[in-house]
Amino acid sequence: MKGEISVQTQHIFPVIKRWLYSEKDIFLREIVSNACDAVTKHKRLGDLGKTDDICDSYRIDVNVSKENKTITVSDNGIGMSREDVDNFINKIALSGALDFINKYEGENSDSGIIGHFGLGFYSAFMVSDTVEIKTKSFDGSESVHWSCNADGEFEMETGDRETRGTDVILHLTDEEFAYLDSVKLKGILTKYCGFMPYEIYFSDDENKDGEKINDTTPLWQRNPSDITDEEYIEFYKKTMGDYLDPSMWIHINADYPLNFKGILYFPKQKNDYETLESKVMLYYNQVFVADNIKEVIPEFLMNMKGVLDCPELPLNVSRSYLQTNTYVSKVSNHIAKKVADKINGTFNTNREGLEKIWDDVCVYVQFGCLRDRKFYDRVNGSVLYKTVDDTYVTLDEYFDGAEKKGNVYYASSKELQGYYIDLYKKQNKKVLLMDKVIDVQFNSLLEQQNEGLKFVRVDADLADALGAKNSEDKTTLCEFIKNAVDKKELNINITSLEDDSFPALINIKEDSRRFSDMMKMYGGDTMGIPTEETLVVNSANPLVIRLEKAVEDGDDNANDLAKYLYLLALVSSRTLSGEEMKEFISLGVKLLSK
Ligand code: ADP
Repeated sequence: MKGEISVQTQHIFPVIKRWLYSEKDIFLREIVSNACDAVTKHKRLGDLGKTDDICDSYRIDVNVSKENKTITVSDNGIGMSREDVDNFINKIALSGALDFINKYEGENSDSGIIGHFGLGFYSAFMVSDTVEIKTKSFDGSESVHWSCNADGEFEMETGDRETRGTDVILHLTDEEFAYLDSVKLKGILTKYCGFMPYEIYFSDDENKDGEKINDTTPLWQRNPSDITDEEYIEFYKKTMGDYLDPSMWIHINADYPLNFKGILYFPKQKNDYETLESKVMLYYNQVFVADNIKEVIPEFLMNMKGVLDCPELPLNVSRSYLQTNTYVSKVSNHIAKKVADKINGTFNTNREGLEKIWDDVCVYVQFGCLRDRKFYDRVNGSVLYKTVDDTYVTLDEYFDGAEKKGNVYYASSKELQGYYIDLYKKQNKKVLLMDKVIDVQFNSLLEQQNEGLKFVRVDADLADALGAKNSEDKTTLCEFIKNAVDKKELNINITSLEDDSFPALINIKEDSRRFSDMMKMYGGDTMGIPTEETLVVNSANPLVIRLEKAVEDGDDNANDLAKYLYLLALVSSRTLSGEEMKEFISLGVKLLSK
C-alpha cells in the first residue's frame, strides 16, 4: 500500500499552540504579514493584467476592541474564495504562498511574498479560543465566513463581507487579555511590522480612525546614492534609540547569491555599559524577525548597531540554526569585507574624516585585525595611530616611508609618562599614544607581521633613544648609589646623554614589562618575576656632577643626594608608595634647607 501520512488537526493544534513559536507576540506579525501578502498578490494580479480592479489605496487595519475582547486584522488584498479557504486554511501545512508563486511567478522570482512556512495563520490560536475569517475574493465569488475553535473544529458558510479583502478576527482567551491593552499591542505592532511595505493603521475603542504605524519604504531598501547623511543619522537615532550621532555607517546591498540588504552603524564610544550590547535587528522582507542577532555579524563588530534584511533566512530562525548555517557565515564575512572597504575608502578619499572618527572605530579595526587575518590584510594600510599630540599617522608615515624596521615609541599614559614624552620630543622623535588594553595585543600582531619592527614604550629604551654618547665606567659612583638606597641588586647605567636636563630615570625593559602587564591582566601573581629595571643616571646633568664630586670629597650630603636622585627617578615613572613619598619630601626639605 502506498499513501501519505495525514496530519490530524486535533493532534497538531496543541503542538502549534505550545511549541511553534517561542514568543507569543509573533502571532500578530504572522497575521499582519499574511495581510501584506494578500495585498502583494492582488497588486501582482493587477500588474499582470489578470484583474481590472486596480487599487491605489491598499491598507491594513489592526483594531483592538476591549469591549468585544478581539483583535481584528483587515486588509483589502486578494481575498479568499470558498475553495481557497478550504485549500489554504482548512488543510494545514499546504502553503498557499507557494501555490500562488508557482501559479503566477515561477520559481526563484523576487515575489516579495512573505509566507512560505505554511503555519503562520495558526499562530492565532496561541492567543485565541476562536478565530473568525470574513473574506471576499477578487474573483467575484460569494463571500465566506469561517470560524474555528481551539480544538480545530471549523464551520464555513456564506458571509456578509461586501468588498474585496479579508478580516481575521481573534477572540482572545481569558489568559491573554493583556493583549487588549492598546499600548502593549501597538508596541508589538511597531516592533514587528514597523517597516512592512503597505500602510498599517492601528485603532482601538478610543481612536477609531486609526494611526499609521509603519514606514513602508525603510532606508535600507532605498538606493544609497539617494540618501543624505541626515537621513542616515535620523534613521539611526530613531530605530536604535541613541541620542548621539553614529560615527560611521555602511549600507550593504548584496546581490545573488547572498541577497541581503542592511545598514550597519558604528556608534560613538561612550565608555558605558550600553554600548557593549549589540543591536542588530534582523528582518525578512521588511518583517521583523529578531533582535540582537550576534551570529550574523562578525564577532569583532559586535557593538555595531543596525538592520539587516535577509530574505534567505527563514522567518522562524533559531539561535542554533544561525550558529551552524553556512549562509550566515558568508553574510558575516561579507559584512567584514564591507567594513574594511569602508575604512579603506574613507582613508583614501577623506583622510581628515577618518581621523575625526578614528577614536570611535579603532577598537573595531584592531579587534578585527586580531580575529580575522583576511580583515587585517585588507585594512592594514589604512590603520591610523594616534600620537601623544592628538595627530594621526600611519605606520608608513611613522617611518617616513622607509622600511618598517626598528623602534616605534609609544606612551601608555600621557600623564604618568609625560616627563619621558618630553625628552623624546626634544629629540624630534614621534611618540604614539597606546592607552587601551587591546593595544598590547595589537602591537604584538604587528611585530609578528613586520620583521624587525618593535614597539617600545618611552620608559623602556632610554639610553638608546636619548642618544647615549658613551657608557662610562663609574664603578665607585655606582656602588655608592646602591649602598645609599640600600638595593644591592639595582641595575645602574651611568651614561652621558645629549640631553642634560634630567639627572636619572627608570628604564624598564619592554619585554619583561609586557610580560608582567599580561600576568596582571589575567590576575596572575607577579611576585618573583624580575622586572628588568635599570636606573639610568645621566652624568651630563649638573646634579649628577655635584653628586660625583660629593662622593669624591666624602661630603656628608652625598648619601642624601644619592637617595634623592633615585627617588626623583622613581617619581617620574610611577606613583610613589607611602614610605617613598615621606622620604622624598623629608629629603627634599632637608637638602633644600642647607
Ligand atoms: P503561509 O502564509 O506561510 O502560506 P499561513 O498559514 O500563514 O501560511 O497562511 C496560509 C494561507 O492562507 C496563505 O498562504 C494564504 O493563501 C491564505 N491566507 C491567510 N491569510 C490571508 C489573507 N489575509 N488574505 C488572503 N489569503 C490569506
